[in-house]
Amino acid sequence: MSRPLEPTTSAFPDWLTGPLIGIVVAAGYFVGAWLGVTQTISPEGKAIIWPPNAVALAALLLLPRHRWPWVIPAVLLAEIAADLPAFPLWSAVAFGLINLFEVFLAATLIRWLSGPRFDFDSLSRGACFLLFGPLLAATLAAFLGAGVYLALGKEASAYFAYWQMWWFGDALGLLILTPLLVVAVRQFDELRTRWNRARAAEAIAVAALVITLGFLVHSVGSGTRISQPLSQILLLPPVFWAAARFGVPGAASAVALAATVSIGFMVHWDSLPPGLAPETAILALQEFLAVAAIVGVGLGLMLGDLRASREGLRAAHDELERKNRELEERVAERTQALRDANQRLEAIASTDALTGIANRWHFLEVAQREVHRRHEADSGSGLALLMLDLDHFKQVNDTYGHPAGDHVLHTLALTIRDNIRPLDLCGRFGGEEFLILLPEADGETTRAVAERLREAVAATRFEYQGQQLEVTVSVGLAVWDGQEDVDELIQRADTALYRAKHRGRNRVEGDIPETSPGDPKASA
Ligand code: GH3
Ligand code: MG
Ligand code: MG
Repeated sequence: MSRPLEPTTSAFPDWLTGPLIGIVVAAGYFVGAWLGVTQTISPEGKAIIWPPNAVALAALLLLPRHRWPWVIPAVLLAEIAADLPAFPLWSAVAFGLINLFEVFLAATLIRWLSGPRFDFDSLSRGACFLLFGPLLAATLAAFLGAGVYLALGKEASAYFAYWQMWWFGDALGLLILTPLLVVAVRQFDELRTRWNRARAAEAIAVAALVITLGFLVHSVGSGTRISQPLSQILLLPPVFWAAARFGVPGAASAVALAATVSIGFMVHWDSLPPGLAPETAILALQEFLAVAAIVGVGLGLMLGDLRASREGLRAAHDELERKNRELEERVAERTQALRDANQRLEAIASTDALTGIANRWHFLEVAQREVHRRHEADSGSGLALLMLDLDHFKQVNDTYGHPAGDHVLHTLALTIRDNIRPLDLCGRFGGEEFLILLPEADGETTRAVAERLREAVAATRFEYQGQQLEVTVSVGLAVWDGQEDVDELIQRADTALYRAKHRGRNRVEGDIPETSPGDPKASA
């Protein structure tokens, strides 16, 4: 039997073929380059931000590796198309190759360290991106790019200025746009499912705040010619708001919007703060946007991590509670089972197997408890003991066999039980001797019970295998004198029994005190 293959969870559908990828990347790269060249060039000809590399890097981070080759022609063609009006072909090709080097280096290192399916979904992955993209790959590419500028005839002394320009522009593009593009693809479904009218309204509010503050920050300083411009730091709170409420997608969008507004003002409305060299103002803007992107996206990632670990903790806690409950249930079950087993054992240990009544040990235990209780309470409430012994029982065994004797013992126990009160206790003392404890009984009652028992036994037909057996019992009785212990009480009952045997059997013997404990007369 063959198992069905598990469905592939690739984010990339089949229709996204290589050529289509090439076209999409080329278009994105070209638009990015066009924006970089035409929309973000400062008055002195400096690109504040270079977006196309962000498009190429996002593509490499998102695409399966076997699609990577399609990115190469896309980047080269788009770079040439964007550069040709201003640069010779050889330098356009060189720029394209340098940018390819930058994004392939960054993507390779990032995916090597953080796994093939990259996403901005944890602080460590964000840090990995920051390290290998804007910090390492862009810096290295900037050395090569600045070299091309020298080859194009720029002053050697300007090498580091070009290096810095390249690095900052690329790094800023990567910082602001790559997270936005990656999460837009990776987290699209999640974003869509959590989207609702309230969140849309909140997103619009954040965006409006970014635009308003951006407008204020950049117009107050220049247009009104107030000597002290408002700080761009004012744009940070809405970025944090977006990060806190919408995670990385929110933070990245807010920073991108802030960048658009700021760069738009600076480039198109020439809103440089008074008294500030354009170079200094642009550097300050680049630095601010870089910090805003790093801190905003970092905050979004950190909050995501916190949420994930909180959820993990909660799940672990729930699991622990569930296990605990399970364990408690099992312990309760076992405890109940033990209790039942104990009860069964106790019953077995206290019962005489043949007759089903109390055995000697259990009877003695109860009798001792009764005597002890009366001692403790100093109560003279009545207590009496009967000792029953079958008459000539040996003959029964001898005549009818031992099993017949057993049957007689069993039936006798039932007869006794039928003729005593529920609070009286009957026990088998041994052999064919029985003891009966009668609490709350005075002398007369005791004698009456003894007589009743004797008569009942004598009247009972003990049937065994079709044979009628007649047996009698002799009874010795003793009424507790309020002082003696159980052994002494039994001894007196035994003596009385002996007398009953001696005086002809099938009779009751035993002295009944004038006033027995518990009698109203006793306390009088
Ligand atoms: P007495 O009237 O003097 O009491 O005579 P007895 O024969 O009853 O007394 P004895 O002590 O001589 O014999 C007691 C007999 O009880 C001896 C024994 O075979 C019998 N017996 C004791 N325990 C059991 C028992 O569990 N089953 C049976 N079938 N017989 C028992
Ligand atoms: Mg006997
Ligand atoms: Mg006996």
